[in-house]
Amino acid sequence: MRILVSNDDGVEAPGLRALAEALSAVGEVVVCAPDREQSATSRSISLHRPLRIEKVSPWGAEGSPIERWSVDGTPTDAVYIGLNHVLKDRPPDLVASGINRGPNLANDVHYSGTVAAAMEGCVGGLPSFAVSLIRSRDYSHAARFAASLARQIGLHGLPKGMLLNVNVPAGEPRGSQITRIGKRSYLASVVEKVDPRGRAYYWIGGDEQAHEDVAGSDCNAVFDGQLISVTPLHLDLTAHALIEELTRWDLPGLERSTLPP
Ligand code: MN
Repeated sequence: MRILVSNDDGVEAPGLRALAEALSAVGEVVVCAPDREQSATSRSISLHRPLRIEKVSPWGAEGSPIERWSVDGTPTDAVYIGLNHVLKDRPPDLVASGINRGPNLANDVHYSGTVAAAMEGCVGGLPSFAVSLIRSRDYSHAARFAASLARQIGLHGLPKGMLLNVNVPAGEPRGSQITRIGKRSYLASVVEKVDPRGRAYYWIGGDEQAHEDVAGSDCNAVFDGQLISVTPLHLDLTAHALIEELTRWDLPGLERSTLPP
């Protein structure tokens, strides 16, 4: 098994190293990751500027080094370059992203660069997963779980267009749970400051208030249950529940006979 490993915290991040080294017990690991922190870049892709890539010093033990590439772009760019250039002639069987420094829970998956990297693996037609760790610098539990998950994906595969989002609680996990996306709420916040030249600038994004109690959710699992959360995601954002309703709207020239299955 060959595994492409990426992240959004940058190619030197300790969480990336923990993931790469844990997965090297499962297969041949090649790291291709952003050259710097790219958290919260979501699915951003660099179509309007060139990218530079650099082979950097390998990780791992003597004799079984982990090949490593740095890309001066987003997580999506890094996985795209990994799949379509670095590993063009030796395609991987799996894409893994992480271990992120901090959670990627609830609707934060839409902003997450960590999840985006796994999504890009999914777009490339490969089974993919993202791993994030809540408020801790001890990556050992998350790394061990990622290796087990990679082995299970090797056995069972994943359906096309679907990926897994894993969140690991701080401290010793009690176990693991298959979950759904939960709800976190943040204080909407814009802080205005003035720069040394007298111009206003703004910091956006407030602190988390709390997670809502959603039964079976990723938030409940990690915060209330001390459980590792595994959420299956799919790339198809179609809201099937709304299709039929919309066909009843009075839209110009609306075809009513072509309801998708
Ligand atoms: Mn990050």
